[in-house]
Amino acid sequence: MKIQDKKIAIIGGGPGGLTLARLLQLKGLHVTVYERDVHPAVRQQGGALDLHTDSGLAALTKAGLMEAFKANYRPEAGFMRVVDEQLKMYFDEHQQGKKETFGDNHHRPEIDRGPLRQILLNSLKPDTVVWNSHLLSVAKIQGAWKLVFENGHTATADLIIGADGANSKVRPFVTPIQPYWTGITMLEGSLKDGAKTAPVISELLKGGKLFSYGKGQTLIVSSKGDGSLGFMVSFASREHWAQESGIDFRDHHQVLAWFKKEFSTWSPVWWELFESSDTLFIPRPQYCMPLDQQWEANADITLLGDAAHWMPPFAGEGVNMAMLDALQLSEALTNPAFDTTKQAIAFYEKQMLARFAKIGQATLFNTKWMHQPNALKDMLAMFGRNKWKQAVFFTKYVLQINVIPFIRRMLGWSPVQEVFR
Ligand SMILES: Cc1cc2nc3c(=O)[nH]c(=O)nc-3n(C[C@H](O)[C@H](O)[C@H](O)COP(=O)(O)OP(=O)(O)OC[C@H]3O[C@@H](n4cnc5c(N)ncnc54)[C@H](O)[C@@H]3O)c2cc1C
Repeated sequence: MKIQDKKIAIIGGGPGGLTLARLLQLKGLHVTVYERDVHPAVRQQGGALDLHTDSGLAALTKAGLMEAFKANYRPEAGFMRVVDEQLKMYFDEHQQGKKETFGDNHHRPEIDRGPLRQILLNSLKPDTVVWNSHLLSVAKIQGAWKLVFENGHTATADLIIGADGANSKVRPFVTPIQPYWTGITMLEGSLKDGAKTAPVISELLKGGKLFSYGKGQTLIVSSKGDGSLGFMVSFASREHWAQESGIDFRDHHQVLAWFKKEFSTWSPVWWELFESSDTLFIPRPQYCMPLDQQWEANADITLLGDAAHWMPPFAGEGVNMAMLDALQLSEALTNPAFDTTKQAIAFYEKQMLARFAKIGQATLFNTKWMHQPNALKDMLAMFGRNKWKQAVFFTKYVLQINVIPFIRRMLGWSPVQEVFR
């Protein structure tokens, strides 16, 4: 059967799945997206995402959505300030200004996750997305896939693409490889009306991002276009810290008490992030897929985005990788040079896994330095004007990202995976 005649099921309507749906529809293919959310507005979407020229923006360009992106991105959201735990400011892009423009490789324009999802949804044919479709399992029956959803519905497909994120239900049908624990927990928080609930932090943010580093503890706050704030507190911990801590994360009093105790050297100003009863807290233990993961390609099922290569968010690559996967998979599936879908999937997966091995290494490098006592120094070296300090930082980077994995591969050792051993 030709790809034009196949029924393609994309599981998951996140940035990766929706980008793929758009790109495949542009090529005239039959696509349905099955999404767990009951409707598009059922949950608050996360904070601002910076899209990179050669990945996220390349996919949007191919999807013909750059004009919509430019109408919705937030130029001020990319401005970063770096402070220490006492809010002493060390680096301020608001003051320095930024001169990058579209097309410039360093330009990383930010867009809130909600508007990005809306742009992608608006670009699809009506009824492409079937909401309230929480996939439970798939089974191959007489050469076709049967999809079973939590609401009792079923559907069939010739080709399945698992774009269903970190805890993918599709992944076990592609590979048994499991993610591993990195040693870091992140507590995600989101609060409405930042100017009212966290006025001092909001003032410092000025519509952008605030990075703060203590002794192995990191707090990143970002503003959203609707006035709400998102933040991530991250630290080295045991794997099951969230359950073992005994904290009820629905109770902001308990979370604040924990913060005051564990972040006792931090200024009380930070407490305002934890003082509203509306604030939503989600503990997120950080896992990563093995950097050297490999599997044999299938003819009718594959993965993209976090389902394929879940990793911590400390390099800002997850969404960009998901969208570039979508671009490369759409190109491979419609490339007439491939005689079979299996060949196309094999070509795509080879590119995707090789890219992840490299980006994942860079992500783990960031995860490591951001949670060490000298994180602030490293951050300043990276962004500062002192060329010598920058050279030292980037030498460490190049050694760890390129040279050490290369030597390990030469010697047949598997890549270093744990962030803290
Ligand atoms: C707090 C936080 C901050 C982050 N910050 C950044 C950042 O700044 N930059 C960056 O690049 N990345 C960031 N990331 C990572 C980024 O969010 C992901 O890498 C990216 O969203 C992956 O896209 P995706 O489409 O593969 O998966 P997802 O965005 O996870 O989308 C998966 C979709 O599938 C749906 N789904 C899940 N299971 C099922 C099922 N069984 N059946 C049907 N549907 C299902 C979900 O509802 C969801 O809509 C961050 C992540 C977190 C948690």
